[in-house]
Amino acid sequence: MRILFLGAPGVGKGTQAERVGEVMSIPHISTGEMFRHHVGSKTALGLRVEEILARGDLVPDVLTVEMILERLGDPDTTDGFILDGFPRNVAQVHALDEAIGDRALDAVVVLEASNEVLQERILARGRTDDTPESVSNRLDVYERETAPLIDVYRERRLVVKVDGVGEIEEITAKILTALAGLS
Ligand code: ADP
Repeated sequence: MRILFLGAPGVGKGTQAERVGEVMSIPHISTGEMFRHHVGSKTALGLRVEEILARGDLVPDVLTVEMILERLGDPDTTDGFILDGFPRNVAQVHALDEAIGDRALDAVVVLEASNEVLQERILARGRTDDTPESVSNRLDVYERETAPLIDVYRERRLVVKVDGVGEIEEITAKILTALAGLS
C-alpha cells in the first residue's frame, strides 16, 4: 500500500507511521527525520536547512522534493511506503502527483487531536526545534499550508480520519482496522 499520514505537529504521526509501516512491512519515510539526519551529520543540505528547521519554517520545495523523490526511487519502496511529513503544501502535492501519478495513493490517514493536546505533547518531547516560538510557528504553518491538503485528498476519496488521542497501541489498531476496510 502507498499511504500518506497527515496531521498537525505533535499529533503522533511519526510514532504511528513507524508502527504501521512495521506491521505492513513497508518503509516509513519521514521528511522531518531525513532533514534532522542531514543536520546531525552536517551534510551540505543539513547546513543549508538547519536554521529553517530551528525556526519551524518549511524547507524550500526544490530541496524537499529532490530529497524525497530520490528516496522514493529506492528499491525498498516498490511494494509501498508510508509518507510522513510530505507533501506539506499544494506545490508538493503536485510534485508527488507528477512523480507517482495522481491515483497512486491508496489512503491518506489524518490523525486528529485538540490544540491543547498538541502543545502538551510537543513540549514533553523536547526536540531541539521544539522551542515555544518554533512550535507556535509550526502550528501556524500547518494550518495555513498543510491543513488544506485534507480537502484535496478528501475530493479524491482517500481520507481516513483517526482520533489521535488515546493509548499508542489502541490508535495503531484503529488505523490498521480502517486501512484493512479499504481493500
Ligand atoms: P513536526 O510535524 O512534528 O513539526 P517533522 O519531523 O515532520 O515535525 O518536521 C520537522 C521540520 O522539518 C519542519 O518543521 C520543517 O522545517 C521540515 N520539513 C519536514 N517536512 C517538510 C516538507 N515536506 N517541506 C518542507 N519542510 C519540511
